[in-house]
Amino acid sequence: MVGLNQGHLMSGTVEVVCGPMFSGKTEELIRRVRRAQIARQKVQIFKPAIDDRYHETDVVSHSSLAVTAQPVAKSAEILERLYDSTRVVAIDEIQFFDEAIITVVKKLARRGIRVICAGLDQDFTGSPFGPIPALLCMADRVDKIQAICTVCGAPASKTYRKDPDSTEQVLVGETDLYEARCRTHWDYADEDEDLLAFSFPLNSTANKRPEMMNDNA
Ligand SMILES: [Zn+2]
Repeated sequence: MVGLNQGHLMSGTVEVVCGPMFSGKTEELIRRVRRAQIARQKVQIFKPAIDDRYHETDVVSHSSLAVTAQPVAKSAEILERLYDSTRVVAIDEIQFFDEAIITVVKKLARRGIRVICAGLDQDFTGSPFGPIPALLCMADRVDKIQAICTVCGAPASKTYRKDPDSTEQVLVGETDLYEARCRTHWDYADEDEDLLAFSFPLNSTANKRPEMMNDNA
């Protein structure tokens, strides 16, 4: 590498690819990894060990593109497993990592590494997911990509959970429990709850609004 512009080469970057489930985040991560590999850059791919769907060591998108990834139990392991020659680090399902992932990503970028992060920006309630807000803030480049609403076919930025009884933030690998939805068709579950909040107990006639009593007559 002697004679090359080391200063330029050593400039790290942080990229975040986010969006709802089924938006193609992993495909985009794999696409960027493949391009880096074509450019003969040493790439390492990590994913949280919690995500064991499909295959133990592959990052597999829903369209079955696959690249080999190292599962890690916690974010600090990424630094421990890093090779000196690595130029690009890709991290899939980054929303499942602990908060320490933010420091890890910073350290990687400071070493001159291009860091590509992919993950869910929101959970099914629309709340920011884990370390994602901080990562979006520190990123040099952010791509928020959309899926297609399963109800109306519009661009979808929300993940809708079909099972209303579950209390988990995300059921890992249970992709049939989720759908991508546009804001309108994601919102309607909340709207139902709002309506319930304004209605009265069914067995109490004392509290019923006049129009409801008329309906029952
Ligand atoms: Zn829709």
